[in-house]
Amino acid sequence: MKVEEVRKRYIDFFVKRGHVHIPSASIVPENDPTTLFTSSGMQPLVPYFMGLSHPEGKRLVNSQISFRTEDIEEIGDNRHTTFFEMLGNWSFGDYFKKEQLPWLFEFLTSHHEGLGLDSRKLFVTTFSGDEESGMGKDTESVGIWKSVNIADDHIFSYGARKNWWSRAGVPNKMPAGEIGGPDSEVFYDFGTPHDVKFGEKCHPNCDCGRFIEIGNSVFMQFIKQQDGSFKELPKKNVDFGGGLERLAAATRNNPDVFLIDVFDAARVILEKRSGKSYGSNTHVTHSFRIILDHIRAAAFLIASGIRPSNTEQGYVLRRLIRRSIREISKLDIQGAVLADIAEEFGAAYADAYPFVSKAVKVIRETLEKEERQFKKTLEHGLHELEKMGNHVDAFTLFTTYGFPVELTTEIAAERGVSVDLNAVQEQMEKHRALSRTGAAEKFAGGLADHAEETVRYHTAHHLLLRALQVVLGPGVHQRGSNITNERLRIDFSYGEKMTSEQKTEVERIVNEKIIEALPIIHIVMKKGEAEKLGAEREFGANYPEQVSVYSVGPKNATETDPRFSEAFSIEFCGGPHVRNTAELGTNGARFHILKEEASSSGVRRIKAVLE
Ligand SMILES: [Zn+2]
Ligand SMILES: [Zn+2]
Repeated sequence: MKVEEVRKRYIDFFVKRGHVHIPSASIVPENDPTTLFTSSGMQPLVPYFMGLSHPEGKRLVNSQISFRTEDIEEIGDNRHTTFFEMLGNWSFGDYFKKEQLPWLFEFLTSHHEGLGLDSRKLFVTTFSGDEESGMGKDTESVGIWKSVNIADDHIFSYGARKNWWSRAGVPNKMPAGEIGGPDSEVFYDFGTPHDVKFGEKCHPNCDCGRFIEIGNSVFMQFIKQQDGSFKELPKKNVDFGGGLERLAAATRNNPDVFLIDVFDAARVILEKRSGKSYGSNTHVTHSFRIILDHIRAAAFLIASGIRPSNTEQGYVLRRLIRRSIREISKLDIQGAVLADIAEEFGAAYADAYPFVSKAVKVIRETLEKEERQFKKTLEHGLHELEKMGNHVDAFTLFTTYGFPVELTTEIAAERGVSVDLNAVQEQMEKHRALSRTGAAEKFAGGLADHAEETVRYHTAHHLLLRALQVVLGPGVHQRGSNITNERLRIDFSYGEKMTSEQKTEVERIVNEKIIEALPIIHIVMKKGEAEKLGAEREFGANYPEQVSVYSVGPKNATETDPRFSEAFSIEFCGGPHVRNTAELGTNGARFHILKEEASSSGVRRIKAVLE
């Protein structure tokens, strides 16, 4: 089924059931300085879950254009994209589980009104209950799934970390007054054989690639009381989020989202111009996927008013375009091609998002200009690099000619010339700005991750940055970060590979701070005050006059007596965080560095886990 058809059927289905179709909000949030991009359908609607009444009523439906910056470098598999559409339907204190789940099932399986998916390929997950808080199993959802004929062995239950939603994480972490509830995900079984390296038995949350999540219904059912107990909300909410591209892939029974129709015309252009076919080998497929993903996203961003620059959204756009150009060159395509590809995306979305095809002229000009400039930069820089012989000055190449440092490093390495990374490190700090992942992630329902683990990793991230400064010196600063519910990643300024002794020492310090059970203090203060305290700044961020600051320790610190001078770490940060570092050590978890590697010139990358 075509993407257009999936979207239309979904909207029609819910409009017929009393929902008002609201347009997609802009991909660039209008009044939210905490985040660069809209990353879910729920994000623009958060105030309405907090009690404000929506002018269009209690039942809404839409398809939201969304963009997630995390892991741009990791695009290339069969199911992840930076830009995507999220189908959403919402109940604000209106219908609940017994309407939502049968409707969803009907939409997924009905040939007449829905997608006609084979119900035997659907697997669902529900909340198994949570001993810590005494919150019971979501038997209601299980019963409803059974009543629509989902087989018993297709219904799985997971704990609060997988199937509970609240902005603060699992039930025990929720402060008084916070709302939350169980969620229920639907997975499609693509039939890919299970690989035992992911565990003995396969199940919906297995990472082997057999199951792909296609939607999640979040049930905002409870409110936490002062005494720690939970009360049913008088007005319960539903937040459903479904991945449009993945649903379209399910209708084709093929897990590769890059084979859905919206990519067809652009893919054909790439095949013609390169003389290579998609799927012919893994390198070609990888390059194709990066270009297709990045240029589709770039077309929407440019049409939304973003232009390539060196800050914030413009920097993300520039990265998308430049990464595409490098992949184009790997495919040996001569001459400009990006604008032609983008134009095909304008056409593919002409009905649903006419603002893209209407902007085709400016999209074309922007891409052609950036492509021309970057190619000139590459040629010119290459010429200068040749002239430098054995004394390659990567910083001058970058500042004078705009030649990317990572490219200098690559080319110099090919020629056996080494670049002095330390020399460029300090200067580079002033010249680079990396995108931030939005604080809005913490609000994300739908396909978003599970907040509690992410919050723990965020706090571990603060401990790690400070430990790196202790071990490697005060010149270490954050250059990028990415936190999921499974691991944290930090990019930081440092010019050399860390020794194993240094890594062990960093791990030791972080674990020591976890064992010391230090309080985390959150204070909103004037920017100047935070600067005086030496609070660590987030790289590339612009701060308003009032800023939010988080400090870790000392042991007797409180919000009224924060004892900043004795704190282990102080950062400008929007949060959220755990309340005590001891929470990072639950169930005997310890902090481990998985990997330390070069990210770009003068910047190292660490991936770490709490396990
Ligand atoms: Zn599996
Ligand atoms: Zn932070």
